[in-house]
Amino acid sequence: MKHSSRIHTVDIAIIGGGASGMAAAWFARRCSREYAPGLRIALLERNERLGKKLLSTGNGRCNLTNLDSNGTRFHGTDPSFTQTAFLQFPPLKIITLFEEMGVVCTVEDEQKVYPASLHASSVLDALRCALDESGIELFTGCKITSISKNGTVFSLAISSEETVSAKTVIVATGGMSAPATGSDGNGYKLLSHFSHRCTPTAPSLVQLTTDTSFVKPLSGHKIRGAVTLLFGNEPVRQEQGELLFTDYGLSGPPILQLSGHVSRALHIDHLSKPVTVVIDFLPGYTFDETRALLQKRKAAFAGRALEEFLTGLFQRRLAYGLLKKALGRPLSSGSADLSDQDITALVEVCKRLPIPVTGTKSFTQAQVTAGGIATADFNPATMASLNCPGLFACGELLDIDGDCGGFNLQWAWASGFLAGGSSVDYLQEKK
Ligand SMILES: Cc1cc2nc3c(=O)[nH]c(=O)nc-3n(C[C@H](O)[C@H](O)[C@H](O)COP(=O)(O)OP(=O)(O)OC[C@H]3O[C@@H](n4cnc5c(N)ncnc54)[C@H](O)[C@@H]3O)c2cc1C
Repeated sequence: MKHSSRIHTVDIAIIGGGASGMAAAWFARRCSREYAPGLRIALLERNERLGKKLLSTGNGRCNLTNLDSNGTRFHGTDPSFTQTAFLQFPPLKIITLFEEMGVVCTVEDEQKVYPASLHASSVLDALRCALDESGIELFTGCKITSISKNGTVFSLAISSEETVSAKTVIVATGGMSAPATGSDGNGYKLLSHFSHRCTPTAPSLVQLTTDTSFVKPLSGHKIRGAVTLLFGNEPVRQEQGELLFTDYGLSGPPILQLSGHVSRALHIDHLSKPVTVVIDFLPGYTFDETRALLQKRKAAFAGRALEEFLTGLFQRRLAYGLLKKALGRPLSSGSADLSDQDITALVEVCKRLPIPVTGTKSFTQAQVTAGGIATADFNPATMASLNCPGLFACGELLDIDGDCGGFNLQWAWASGFLAGGSSVDYLQEKK
């Protein structure tokens, strides 16, 4: 029996209802309202609901942009690819556009912008309302497995019986991070059909696996400290903040910030040098000040058991771990027995404890993907494909990733808005 097939004809089809896809759909309508009000815009999402990943961003609070979104915060083969998108859609413009959708924003530490509700769901709900009010046609529960182009018309199969036919297509399928949310890297294959190249990918903003001898006994413990990443003896980047010890290695915001460098070095560049994270447990003290502090404690607490020597300066478990590491002997004697050499060893572990890095956790735990669709094949001013007229891409799918702190959503929104607006311009030029 022959199946009857149904064709939905639209002007703009957007594949992927995550941050960048929703931004593209809404902005395309916003741009078309004045001079092309009748444009049909469809948003196609494989999940039953839009924006699954968005709900888990910023620990459920959605750090939606960062006021300090300068070029150094973005990585990839050519981070300058972001320039036009960020010139047109800087963080303040993103905030204004979200306000237009009904989201009230607040700025917290380190220029991080959140919804004032401090709930990611309020950002997603406002986006969904705005898309609904804009008359965007929503197709959920449909995974696009191929894009074909016949003449000037794209064809996307949304089921065995239904096809979406579109004059332009925006691919916004995300990268490979947190694949349970729907972004599993399948978009790379969709674009390869149009000869788009994909650079090697690696998980970023992800926990580091390390030698566990020091960290495992401290699993679950959080401290504030400074961490320096070394490739061989060469410092690569330093970060400060709250570190988390785990039974496999290290986590916490400063570690996530360093992780992109580690991931690229180990998984993409196959660096042969050792990778080390050096922890400074007393970043507020110089080496000399630390020595003076410890000498003072020795004088004040001469009667204390050695294993209690650092108690009060650090949480007990960490204090014990640092003493064991520095002295390498049973801690059964008293603090008065500490020699000058012992104090030197203690200063060293408190200020410069090296932890050998063995790798990173996987894409399942990663917040973002380093690498992706080569930006060299796209026009940064429009997000249009250089290989196929009428095709656009945006978001994490492309070889751009940002630091932790709202930078990845800044890229998703800015590139999405730009792609949405450019697709409308493209249709107008074709008229
Ligand atoms: C736990 C976590 C916390 C994070 N927190 C922050 C934060 O606070 N601030 C920040 O800036 N960034 C954060 N990020 C990163 C940020 O969420 C992403 O960079 C951003 O969501 C990327 O947007 P996107 O639209 O490109 O991709 P995604 O949000 O991944 O959306 C892609 C969409 O496409 C759909 N899709 C994929 N393939 C198909 C297909 N073939 N057909 C149809 N649909 C398809 C997917 O289901 C998905 O809904 C976080 C990420 C994670 C995992």
